[in-house]
Amino acid sequence: MIVEQIWTGNSYRNFNYLIACEDTGEALAVDPLDHGKCLAAAKNRGWEVTQIVNTHEHGDHTGGNAAMIAATGAQLLAHENAQDRIPGIDRGLAAGDVIKVGKTVELEVLDTPGHTMSHVCLMSHSDHPALFCGDTLFNAGAGNCHNGGHPNELYQTFAAQLDDLGDATLIYPGHDYIVNNLEFTLDREPDNQQATKLLENIRDQDPGQALVTTLGLEKEINTFFRLHNPSVIARLREAFPELPDQPDAKTVFLRLRELRNDW
Ligand SMILES: [Zn+2]
Ligand SMILES: [Zn+2]
Repeated sequence: MIVEQIWTGNSYRNFNYLIACEDTGEALAVDPLDHGKCLAAAKNRGWEVTQIVNTHEHGDHTGGNAAMIAATGAQLLAHENAQDRIPGIDRGLAAGDVIKVGKTVELEVLDTPGHTMSHVCLMSHSDHPALFCGDTLFNAGAGNCHNGGHPNELYQTFAAQLDDLGDATLIYPGHDYIVNNLEFTLDREPDNQQATKLLENIRDQDPGQALVTTLGLEKEINTFFRLHNPSVIARLREAFPELPDQPDAKTVFLRLRELRNDW
C-alpha cells in the first residue's frame, strides 16, 4: 500500500489522499476536494484512480467528486445513509465492509458517527496499519459536532472503536489543525511535556510534508484520549466546579468538546 497525502493549501486546510496498490497502480482517492492536485499526483505516479471514498457528506470532502469522476470514471463510495446528501453514490458502505484496491490493498470500513451521523473511517490492516479518519479524529484533536453530528456519538466512536486500534496505527486526518489542537491540549494540560516538545518541533512545519502521527502518539498528546489524566481533570474542574473528583470518561470528553467549541 502506498499512501500519498495531498495538502490542498486551501483555507479549510484539507488533506486529500491517494491510496494505491503498488502491483497494479490502481488507486483510491479519499475526499479529493482538490481534484486538480489529486489528478496531477496520480498522473505523476502513473496511477489510475478507480474509486473515490467520501468519509462524510460535507462539501469540503465531496466538492471534487464530479470533476474526479468526469476525469477518471471512478466509482463513488460513501456511507450507506448518506445517499440523500451525496449525489451519485455507486456503493453504500457499512461497518465491516472491505474495499479492495488493486491486488494488495484492503481497507476495512468503520462506521464512525459523531462529526456527522453518516461518517466512515477506513482502516488498512495490510502491510502497515493506517487509519483514514476524515473529520472524526485529527492530529491532537477531535471533530466538531456543529453540522449534523452529536458529541455523545463522537465519544462512543472514540471509546468503542478508535481506542482499541493498535498504537502503531498511522493517522491520516481530513484537515491540518495540529498547531491549534496542540495549543488546546496544552491549555487543558499545561504540564504535558510531549505536547510542548511536539508543538516546538512542528509549529512551522510545511503541511505539504506534514508529520504523520501514530495512535500511540495521539494517546500522549491528544486531550480527547486523556480522559483519566489528573491534570486534565483538575483543570476541567476549574471550568466546571460542579464536576466530581473522579468524573467518568464520557463526562470529561463531553466537557472538553464543549470547551473546544469556543477555543
Ligand atoms: Zn466535516
Ligand atoms: Zn472537513
